[in-house]
Amino acid sequence: MSDRTSRLFPKPRAAFEAEYRIHCNTNNLKLVWYFSLLACIVFAFHLIHHFRLGMEAFSTEMMPYTLLYGFSIVYPALNMLLLHKLKTVSPLEPVANFIELLFPFFMCAVAVMLSVLSAQFELGITPFAILLMVISFTLQGHFFLLASVVIGGFVALSIGLISTLPEEVYSPLIAIGFTTSLACIVIANMTEALRVNQFEIVTDLNNTNRQLKLLSQQDHLTGLLNRRSIDAMLQQELSRSERFDHPLSLLMIDIDNFKHINDAFGHVYGDKMIKEVASSIKLHVRDVDHVGRIGGDEFVVMLVETDHNYAIQVADRMRHEVSKLLAEHAKDKVTISIGHAVYEGESYIALIEKADRALYRAKSAGKNKVRTEHS
Ligand code: GH3
Ligand code: MG
Repeated sequence: MSDRTSRLFPKPRAAFEAEYRIHCNTNNLKLVWYFSLLACIVFAFHLIHHFRLGMEAFSTEMMPYTLLYGFSIVYPALNMLLLHKLKTVSPLEPVANFIELLFPFFMCAVAVMLSVLSAQFELGITPFAILLMVISFTLQGHFFLLASVVIGGFVALSIGLISTLPEEVYSPLIAIGFTTSLACIVIANMTEALRVNQFEIVTDLNNTNRQLKLLSQQDHLTGLLNRRSIDAMLQQELSRSERFDHPLSLLMIDIDNFKHINDAFGHVYGDKMIKEVASSIKLHVRDVDHVGRIGGDEFVVMLVETDHNYAIQVADRMRHEVSKLLAEHAKDKVTISIGHAVYEGESYIALIEKADRALYRAKSAGKNKVRTEHS
């Protein structure tokens, strides 16, 4: 039953519904803008052509055309102006929804009126067919509404034709109107089903790609950046620092006597300690900074726009807090040593080596210390 309903009234699965709505509304607002522009141009030409009749354009007979063309220029122009003003508004806001949904009704009304007027002058009902096609485009994701607008349009057209035309003229025109309406609904149903299907496939693929990308950038144990993404990030930050002449600091962090922790309490406990250290380090940096795990018990922190003095303060606070935090959780005292280096135009490998040398100095000085290369 649900399958059949979804074929008749195509809708994405529940998990995709919210995203699909945003996708459709965004697209629809774009289409409203384009078709408003098109309406302005087309009806401006109509109006110019119409005024070539001279004063006759204001006669009782021609006045409905003059008014209709005028309205069909003013309303879309207002729409475009409003959409321009509302650029920052989310497509799900009531005002955006209102613009999106009113436009097809406007087109349907114009289609019916113009077709009835044309039929009176034995010009057929081509505007009806054309505008119904356009409506089918501008109501993505609103199939039920689309069917109602199209059927409502057909009923209004029939009433208009029946009340203004002689019988022999209106019967073929109503038949054409009915066929057009039906064709629009069938085509819109097929396009909508395809669109929903395509959206689900693309969204699924994008989500999987996003997850894969995240996994390929993450260290599996701590969720921090892994070696590969730290390398990429560091090169990116170095060139940014060089371009804008901003300072950049690098911290190389290593847990002290970690082998002993592993040996004494086991690997599982060691892993837990690594995770604790990782989250403690993360607590001390800003969102713009980058933290990665580059080896067993070794971490790297990139502090952007941070000079020597401030980086030392951050590192010292980190060292202090990590040992305090770990003292609460650990079965044994756990500390970290930190080597610090400021970027001075060298290559990223040279910068890492500089921070490594500083870390070595911190270890040699008795561990649980912060050191730069020459301090
Ligand atoms: P130091 O104070 O000089 O740093 O001494 P250390 O004992 O910490 O020595 P080092 O940093 O060289 O040793 C790191 C140890 O971390 C070696 C390895 O057994 C362990 N290790 C590496 N990866 C993992 C891991 O994923 N989980 C756990 N539990 N241990 C790891
Ligand atoms: Mg270590």
